[in-house]
Amino acid sequence: MATSLEHIRHSLAHLLAAAILEMYPGTKNTIGPAIDNGFYYDFEFPKGTAPTDKDFPAIEKKMREILKTWKHFDGKEVSAKEARAFFKGNPYKIELIDDLEKDKEKITLFTSGKFTDLCRGGHVEDTKEIKPDAFKLSRVAGAYWRGDEKNAMLTRIYGLAFANKKELEEYLATEEEAKKRDHKKLGKELGLFTVSDLVGKGLPMYLPKGNIIRTELERFIRAEKEELGYSFVTIPHIARKELYIKSGHMGKYGAMMPTMKDENGEEFVMKAMNCPHHFEIYNAEPHSYRDLPLRLAENTTVYRNEKSGELSGLLRVKNLTQDDTHHFIRPDQIEPEIRMILGLMQKTYALFGFNNYKVEVSIRDPKNKEKYFGGDDVWQKAEKILVDEVKKWGVPYSVEEGEAAFYGPKIDIKVKDSLGREWQLTTIQLDFNQPENFDMSYTGEDGKRHRVVVLHVAIFGSFERFMGILIEHYAGNFPLWLSPVQVKIAPVKESNFAKAEEIGAHLKKAGIRVDTDIKDINFGKKIREAKDMKIPYTIVLGDKDMEKGVVTLESRDHGKIGEKTLEDVTALLLKEIKDKK
Ligand SMILES: [Zn+2]
Ligand SMILES: [Zn+2]
Repeated sequence: MATSLEHIRHSLAHLLAAAILEMYPGTKNTIGPAIDNGFYYDFEFPKGTAPTDKDFPAIEKKMREILKTWKHFDGKEVSAKEARAFFKGNPYKIELIDDLEKDKEKITLFTSGKFTDLCRGGHVEDTKEIKPDAFKLSRVAGAYWRGDEKNAMLTRIYGLAFANKKELEEYLATEEEAKKRDHKKLGKELGLFTVSDLVGKGLPMYLPKGNIIRTELERFIRAEKEELGYSFVTIPHIARKELYIKSGHMGKYGAMMPTMKDENGEEFVMKAMNCPHHFEIYNAEPHSYRDLPLRLAENTTVYRNEKSGELSGLLRVKNLTQDDTHHFIRPDQIEPEIRMILGLMQKTYALFGFNNYKVEVSIRDPKNKEKYFGGDDVWQKAEKILVDEVKKWGVPYSVEEGEAAFYGPKIDIKVKDSLGREWQLTTIQLDFNQPENFDMSYTGEDGKRHRVVVLHVAIFGSFERFMGILIEHYAGNFPLWLSPVQVKIAPVKESNFAKAEEIGAHLKKAGIRVDTDIKDINFGKKIREAKDMKIPYTIVLGDKDMEKGVVTLESRDHGKIGEKTLEDVTALLLKEIKDKK
């Protein structure tokens, strides 16, 4: 968030509190920070008087009136005693003041117009920066004082705020469109996935149509990786607890990993990551410098015990199927390997129209080098390679000092979807630690044993999350190669049914996913259904078409294409599927 926008948002929280205190006497105001898209303020209203969204227009009107009377925010440092006297009768403010006093922090009051609040600052210089038409109250919610459920439940009023009216309107339009595209709503309407209470929250299941999309995605990434020389492996989904103790995951993520015991009391863990299994595969055979890079790949599910409150659709789940790879390389291979991975990633993203990236390169905290595993020389070289490769790529990037994992630097790539929303997808993580931990080595040209370097990479991240993102990105209008039904055949009358089935069989044999609709004679319903299910192509077959020996082709995206022979239609569809357009 740009600082100035943050200041506008926080200043608006003051303005909201001022309006509320005037309109709802007896209300106690607590805190009001700026947030991602605006601001909020938490209040304790006298019983039964809390406003609802119906009251927003009146509150906004009051805010605009008060705004006209404000010029700036005047700060003043006061003693704890003075502050307590000022906020007498407001136990929330008194608690905050007590804490500030205890921590020996400065206590400041900020006044604008007739309103004064306890605050550490961060306001606009001049209230002219706040545009009266660039904010809007958005919702009311309950919130515990200081986020603790043992405390009183307060009323939180949220507002949206931007630098100007245009930005606010753009935000509202995007939000409206995002609601229509919600992957949970579309997933249900298009029959893609389901969540069963009995199976469990956060454990989505793919329906036949959704599974087609997922299978196509898996096939695509597998074929790309095979072409680049990756080796596919298969591992079990549980392992002895000792494996994760050795890898250090047990200590860090133990609480997140479900465990089970066999009849001898031996403890097994459901895998929350695949790395240690792949390390043991590496160690199963000796390696020479000539064998490297060795790239082990697998599309496999990991299980994480995420909090149930945070589970949602395909985006927050307990089962994540990763397109995981572990690259075992020599130190001199880091550069070409990173370049190859970035190339694969770019090709993959381009296919889905994700052409806008933001890249973060996480490096060590230069002041705290002892916190990290591995030698200075290796780190410096690796960090330079990551930054150089990203630079060559020519996309916006930032270098985040101190954000690297203790075992190596990494690159995180965020893409923008068709609504301009950002999603974190690929992570490329260099690892100097686990090779030591698992004693992974190769025999060098000199005949001696050398430490291998590991790269952890997943291009899609997880299929569940990627599919959730794709559903919203495409608004359910999947390109032909991903569409569960690629073409629907809609015969006009019963006398056309037999021919329709013949055409359907022909297309199916050619490898096209086809739905020959001879369920009933209601032609209009067939066309409506094709539209509702967002099927890319519809073949209409009437008496006239049959006489001429053609079909009439319609496209979801380009409208009526017209009469074509079945051979032409087949060729056209197959080409589009192959081109993945
Ligand atoms: Zn303030
Ligand atoms: Zn890994």
